[in-house]
Amino acid sequence: MEMGRLLYEGKSKKVFETSDPDRVVVRFTDEATAFNAKKRATVAHKARVNCAISVRLFREVEQAGVRHHVVEQRSETDLLCERVEIIPVEVVVRNVVAGSFARRYGLTDGQPLHRPVLEWFYKSDALDDPLVGDDAVVCLGWAAEWELQFMREAALTVNQVLTAFWAEHGIDLVDAKYEFGRQNGRLLLADELTPDGSRLWEQGTGRPFDKDVFRKDLADLSETYRELLGRITGG
Ligand code: 5GP
Repeated sequence: MEMGRLLYEGKSKKVFETSDPDRVVVRFTDEATAFNAKKRATVAHKARVNCAISVRLFREVEQAGVRHHVVEQRSETDLLCERVEIIPVEVVVRNVVAGSFARRYGLTDGQPLHRPVLEWFYKSDALDDPLVGDDAVVCLGWAAEWELQFMREAALTVNQVLTAFWAEHGIDLVDAKYEFGRQNGRLLLADELTPDGSRLWEQGTGRPFDKDVFRKDLADLSETYRELLGRITGG
């Protein structure tokens, strides 16, 4: 399959057309950004590590029956994916209080939630991805009612699968952000499943293995991500 023109350049990924109009190549890059790209850096090995983690996690959720956009891995950094229209709503599922949830409600990071909390955020760099309610999402035409219902169920399933997966590797899945896309009237889990879009804390120590390391300058992100990959591949 031929690679075509660059369709979209995100903060840490590029998306290329292919000779198949229904498929794209998603290429991970070594760029790291935080705070809506106000903080940036190049992080050695990040592309290949996030690509490998993403492939592994998409495989896990597939086994639980969640349909997703990844077709196959093409190279260390490239995934052949179904071409989808991304729904402009991020789905965040939280198991433990952290980040914007802690700030919004005046809570301390680390407090467990007795059931997962699901939140919607409108994808808008100009507005810094604001929290939105179901009614606004539907009324403003960002997603249909059935799509919200589908995304809620799928995101909670993914949360369950990935919580179990990470726990097997001694890590707590604190929270994560998921994105979905439309293709021919169906919804697929899309984007990436990586430590860039999740909070992952080592059980027992609370040591973060995610992008908070970069956001808060806690350690070397490249080494942290490689150690995380090593834990799941046994390397
Ligand atoms: P929070 O709302 O606490 O900032 O983020 C909740 C979770 O969703 C965290 O795991 C965070 O990494 C992820 N997340 C939220 N928004 C974004 C985003 O725009 N990009 C990425 N990569 N992750 C996000």
